[in-house]
Amino acid sequence: MDEETRLIRAGQQAGPLAKTVGPPIQKGSTVLLPNAAALYDDDAFVTYGRKGLAAQEGLIDALSQLEGAAGTCLYPSGLAALTGAMLAVLKAGDEVLVADCVYNPTRRFCDQVLTRFGVAVRYFDPLQPPEALVGEASEKVRLIVLESPGSLTFEMQDLARIAELARARDILTLADNTWGAGYLFKPIAQGIDLSVQALTKYVGGHSDVFMGSVSARTEALARKLDDGVVHLGWAVAPEDAYQMLRGLRTLPTRLERQGASALKVAAWLKAQDEVAQVLFPALPGAPHHHLWKRDYRGACGLFSFVLKPGPARAVDALLDVLTLFGLGFSWGGFESLAIACDHQLRKRKHRRDYGGPVVRLHIGLEHPDDLIADLRIGLDAYRRACG
Ligand SMILES: *Cc1c(COP(=O)(O)O)cnc(C)c1O
Repeated sequence: MDEETRLIRAGQQAGPLAKTVGPPIQKGSTVLLPNAAALYDDDAFVTYGRKGLAAQEGLIDALSQLEGAAGTCLYPSGLAALTGAMLAVLKAGDEVLVADCVYNPTRRFCDQVLTRFGVAVRYFDPLQPPEALVGEASEKVRLIVLESPGSLTFEMQDLARIAELARARDILTLADNTWGAGYLFKPIAQGIDLSVQALTKYVGGHSDVFMGSVSARTEALARKLDDGVVHLGWAVAPEDAYQMLRGLRTLPTRLERQGASALKVAAWLKAQDEVAQVLFPALPGAPHHHLWKRDYRGACGLFSFVLKPGPARAVDALLDVLTLFGLGFSWGGFESLAIACDHQLRKRKHRRDYGGPVVRLHIGLEHPDDLIADLRIGLDAYRRACG
């Protein structure tokens, strides 16, 4: 053969792979099939590289174990997982009930995409009792979208009770389980149908890779999700899947440390003159602590606190003087972050007065005493800016 041809065929896998601790990072769009019959064999597991390669399958298997699920699908981001799950189960004419404390891009998708396809969207107060929520749902309601604790303000919903009541009426339930990271909380064990995670946050753990997952309670729902992924054409890269699997190894250890540090920082904040209240269900005495205690095995590092009333420029002064907290929207990494929340809270339908400006913190793996010292400087700046 000519050298051109020899180069095309050189270096292809020679034999069995060495066994490493993690799965091989198999890169492939084309999958070579063993014979002509296999080309159109509907039962063949892998015919094309969008699905079925080693690192992605390894991650799917691990996430299904973590979530106690019948099956799991991967998506290129957490938001794609949320939108993918909704598109897989909703159709024109359906109505969806959405907790008013959901992650803001979830709201944007519901308002700007689902409505365009003839799905009605209604937001409910996350503190509405489950009996009223499900009892008042119209015949058209097909899905309830939950997030507990909620984004930014951390309201807890009784997911077990909502799931039980919804199932009796043939309504599906979906929970954004990013805060619980599949480890602190198990939505499927509580009867929730679809558990969604932004793996970008705690599973990745290093703020450098995007991915999302949806885990299904039943085989039938898992097949629906799978079909949705095929129809929309999503795929995730093997390197990214490998990195998520690597993150999973240390997930419990990081969560334990970050949750303990967050509790220490939260308890300190609660005792400061400038702070009106702390919104962190893991903190004894905080709103919804009883539900957290009933359902969760621990806390992560994400919570908010409410300042005594002051102008927005004073909140900016607090944030700008911090040196250990980065200002950024994500969380779940090894580093501490802070954002002001009031701008996003204004988009809610059921607005609540928290008694002052809301600031969200993500507590990383730094020493908590250093974080507390940084926050003390921030609160001094807030006090000065309030005059
Ligand atoms: C970040 C986040 C998402 C979206 O994840 P991406 O990977 O950034 O798209 C979804 N839900 C919650 C609660 C989040 O915090």
